[in-house]
Amino acid sequence: MALIVQKYGGTSVGSTERIQAVAEKVKRYHDEGNQIVVVVSAMSGKTNELIALAADITSRPSAREMDVLLSTGEQVTIALLTMALHKLGVDARSYTGGQVHIRTDSSHSKARIVDIHGDRVKADLDAGRVVVVAGFQGTDEHGNITTLGRGGSDTTAVAMAAALDADECQIFTDVDGVYTTDPRVEPNARKLDRITFEEMLELASSGSKVLQIRSVEFAGKYNVPLRVLSSFEEGEGTLITLEEEDMEKAKIAGIAFSRDEAKLTIRGVPDHPGVAYQILGPIGEANIEVDMIVQNIGKDGTTDFTFTIHRNDLDEAVGILQKTADEIGAREVEYDDKIVKIALVGVGMRSHAAIASNMFKALAKEQINIQMISTSEIKVSVVVEEKYLELGVRTLHEAFGLDQVET
Ligand code: ADP
Ligand code: ASP
Ligand code: MG
Repeated sequence: MALIVQKYGGTSVGSTERIQAVAEKVKRYHDEGNQIVVVVSAMSGKTNELIALAADITSRPSAREMDVLLSTGEQVTIALLTMALHKLGVDARSYTGGQVHIRTDSSHSKARIVDIHGDRVKADLDAGRVVVVAGFQGTDEHGNITTLGRGGSDTTAVAMAAALDADECQIFTDVDGVYTTDPRVEPNARKLDRITFEEMLELASSGSKVLQIRSVEFAGKYNVPLRVLSSFEEGEGTLITLEEEDMEKAKIAGIAFSRDEAKLTIRGVPDHPGVAYQILGPIGEANIEVDMIVQNIGKDGTTDFTFTIHRNDLDEAVGILQKTADEIGAREVEYDDKIVKIALVGVGMRSHAAIASNMFKALAKEQINIQMISTSEIKVSVVVEEKYLELGVRTLHEAFGLDQVET
C-alpha cells in the first residue's frame, strides 16, 4: 500500500466529462489498495475568467478580495470531483485549503505555505476515504483566504505530499512529461524520462510552466519523489530526482523561455558606491522581483543600469524608478516590454564553457540580437526581442541536438 498525492491541472478537469474520467482514474489507484489524496486546479479558463470579472469592476481590486474570488475556482472542482467519486461508489471528501490547515503567510496572490496539518487528511485516509483538496489556496494566521500564485496547485500537491510523507507526488497534466522544451513551441521537443531537481528548478524559474517553481523547491527541500505525467494517456511520465551517478549526463537538459519579461534602464546614473542599492532598494521594498541586472562600465563619472522584472510589475516599477532618477540626478528612464528570455539549462554544463559561445553563434546565424546575458552554474540566459522567441527556441533546440537521444 502506498500513499500517493495526485494533482490534476485545469485541462485535466476542464469539463464534467473530464472530471468523471479523473474520478475513474482515481478509483483505479484506490482500488489497488493505495491511499489517495487528490489536489485539483480550477477548470481550465476559470481562473482567467474570474480575473476578467474583477477587471470589469475595477483596475485596482483589493488583494484580499481577489484571493477570495480566485479561490472559488478550485472549490467548484473539489465538489464536482467528489460527487463523481461518490457516483462510482468511492468514499471521498472534499476540503478547501483552509479546512486542511494549509497555513500561508499573508502576501495575497503570491502567498507561501508555512505549515500544513495532515491530521484531518490522515484520519480520512485511515478510514478508507479519498481526500480531495483544493489547490492554489490556503489561509493566513488571521483566517484570510490566500492564493499561491499562478500554477500554485502544483505547490499545494507537493506540500501535501511532504506533510503526509507520501510515497510519490504525481502531477497529471496535458502533456505526458517534461520535455526538452515546450512542445507547443518546438514540435520536435523530446520527452525526458528523468530530470534532476536542480535542472527542473532552473527550467521552472526561467519560465517553463509545466511545474510551478515553488513546487520544485519544496520537492527538492523535502525530497518528495515527484513525477509529471499525462491525465489523458498511460505512461511513466518524467521523474524528477536527485542527481545520480549513472544519469544520462546531457550537456543541456532543456530550453526554457519566458514571455513575462520587461526591461528597465536608468541612464546617466552618478557612478559612486551605493547607487545600485539606491536604485534597487525601493524596487525590492515594493515586492517587485528583479531577475537579470547589468551595470555598464562607468564613463565620465556616470553609468547606465539595466534590469529585468515581470511584465505585470512594469507600471509600478517605472513609477518608482522615475522617482529614484529624480532623487539621484540620473538622466532618464527607459523601458521595453517587447522582450523575452530564453535559457539553456543542464547540469552537464558545469564543465563546458563552450556552451555559451555556441549559443551566441547559433543565434547570430539567425540574426537574432542578444540584448542581455546572464549565466549561472547550470544555466545561460539571454534576453532577445519578443518576435524572435519561437525562432530562437527552435534554433537552439536544433543547434544543441536536443531532439536526439544522447548515446
Ligand atoms: P496544468 O493546467 O495541468 O497545470 P500547465 O498548462 O500549467 O498545465 O502546464 C502544462 C503545459 O506546460 C504544457 O501544455 C506545455 O505547453 C507547457 N510546457 C512548458 N514547458 C514545458 C516542458 N519543458 N515540458 C512539458 N511541457 C511544458
Ligand atoms: N487555477 C490556478 C491557475 O490557473 C492554479 C493552478 O491551476 O495551478 O493558475
Ligand atoms: Mg500548471
